[in-house]
Amino acid sequence: MSKVITVCNQKGGTGKTTTAINLAAYLADAGESTLLVDIDPQSNATSGIGIDKTSVKISIYDALLSSRHSVRDIIVNTQVKRLDLIPSRFDLSGAEIELVGINKREYVLRVAIGLVKDSYKYIIVDSPPSLGLLTVNALTAADSVIIPVQCEYYALEGLTQLLNTIKLIKTNLNCTLEIEGAVLTMADFRTSLCHQVIKEARDFFQDKAYQTVIPRSVRLSEAPGFGKPIMLHDRTSAGGRAYEELAREFLQRQGSKGGTREPESPAYAKASAGRQRAREPENQRARELENQRVSD
Ligand code: ATP
Ligand code: MG
Repeated sequence: MSKVITVCNQKGGTGKTTTAINLAAYLADAGESTLLVDIDPQSNATSGIGIDKTSVKISIYDALLSSRHSVRDIIVNTQVKRLDLIPSRFDLSGAEIELVGINKREYVLRVAIGLVKDSYKYIIVDSPPSLGLLTVNALTAADSVIIPVQCEYYALEGLTQLLNTIKLIKTNLNCTLEIEGAVLTMADFRTSLCHQVIKEARDFFQDKAYQTVIPRSVRLSEAPGFGKPIMLHDRTSAGGRAYEELAREFLQRQGSKGGTREPESPAYAKASAGRQRAREPENQRARELENQRVSD
């Protein structure tokens, strides 16, 4: 069984793309065949995973609005083993308007992904910072949503609107859509504001909030400039370890939801648990360091 997860928050700069790229990369690293889908005209997931967006000839735009190319032709390999990409390019910005005239316009991404869904265990969709038709498509195509929440003053603002949108999509377009989880991003553990936001977000999302909190990390912010997921840029940095831990927590939740995992997954869980135990002192040290400083 494959699963489509859309990373979504209509607020700009909350860590959607960073989360989509790095969760996808670590899932692939864990042995799961994974497809990253960039449905944001900014094309940040495309460039961030190492594909030069100016060289992209056919893209998600063609998957949505052109019948000339099959979706399989649009998929490209990435530098990460088992991770493929459906890239985006600038022309996607026109799609929001062009989609309006199309029959069943909310379902076009779902149909496109449906053609390749069986080839992947996880499909991670990076969505734009709006609740327009592209995001509606991303939510209609998804089995679940991950919401990145930035640890900052107005963190929870807009979440009610997002949850209402998810509810509307569930009622009208995609009755099986679930909230997969909320991930707190860019945490500066030195500030009391950060701890306050983490607490408020956990009260708001309850058990949907991941235990793993992504720290603010210089290494994470510079990785897209190198066109690399953090796993290949600096795996041992605090940001690298945090996203690896998020992927582990994500996979653990999949396991506890009723065994939708493929045979290799339990092996990963075992290996990951071993690595986790081996790193306990290191993790303790990382937590101490996080309390002392922001960047790695
Ligand atoms: P948009 O809404 O524009 O699509 P987004 O929600 O996808 O933005 P990102 O692009 O992932 O957000 O992150 C916004 C900026 O913050 C980027 O420059 C990114 O490199 C940086 N960033 C993301 N996460 C972290 C982090 N944990 N530490 C430091 N910088 C980060
Ligand atoms: Mg983005």
